[in-house]
Amino acid sequence: MIKDNICALNEEISSAAKTSRFRQDVTLVAVSKTHPAEMIMEAYDQGIRDFGENKVQELLSKYDDLPSDIRWHLIGHLQRNKVKYIVDKVWLIHSVDSFKLAETIEEQAVIHGVDVNILIQVNISHEESKFGIDKEELTGLLKAVSALKHVHVQGLMTIAPFTEDPEECRWIFRELKNLSIDIDAMKIDNIRMKILSMGMSGDYKVAIEEGSTMVRVGTAIFGQRDYNI
Ligand SMILES: *Cc1c(COP(=O)(O)O)cnc(C)c1O
Repeated sequence: MIKDNICALNEEISSAAKTSRFRQDVTLVAVSKTHPAEMIMEAYDQGIRDFGENKVQELLSKYDDLPSDIRWHLIGHLQRNKVKYIVDKVWLIHSVDSFKLAETIEEQAVIHGVDVNILIQVNISHEESKFGIDKEELTGLLKAVSALKHVHVQGLMTIAPFTEDPEECRWIFRELKNLSIDIDAMKIDNIRMKILSMGMSGDYKVAIEEGSTMVRVGTAIFGQRDYNI
């Protein structure tokens, strides 16, 4: 049951956060990719308003059918030619990893008359994903993006590799947190480090203990995904 899963998750998030912070400091983004609108509405009825999709097309088709107070998060790799479809529909883009992409978002933001909040995806482990910028290149990217007037960096995102033991990923979350502290200290114009998007179904507790402010949870809410339907 989606309802029971969300109740259990809220408990777990509270207890993981409580050493240093409060439940409300961690946003639960329900990752609804591959799942139908009815299942999203079940989560919505439990008070969830943040939903994550990793494909532009899927986000668009759900966007029209679902309540307008949903905050949509684009969490997957974003191709530049698709930015125009979602720039005025997303609450937050988690996966910006190049200046070219940020520049395209800026162009489309101007055309659509909106401001766009983004996170920079950092590839810390180099295992799970070929996407994300290397940490050595992060400061350079941020300084360049800081000049874009309609694109606002709110923090960082990372994807940890899947492991049986989430403790193996603790160092990755710690490293992202430390990077955010270093960047914050640089006081770059138009760059904020308010959001750390890290932690998924298998490792969100460890991620919260290391300072995550936004967890992206799919399977632990909706169950296994079936990519064949
Ligand atoms: C699918 C996905 C998730 C959710 O993964 P679960 O293990 O099902 O919680 C989180 N983040 C990203 C970027 C994803 O693509």
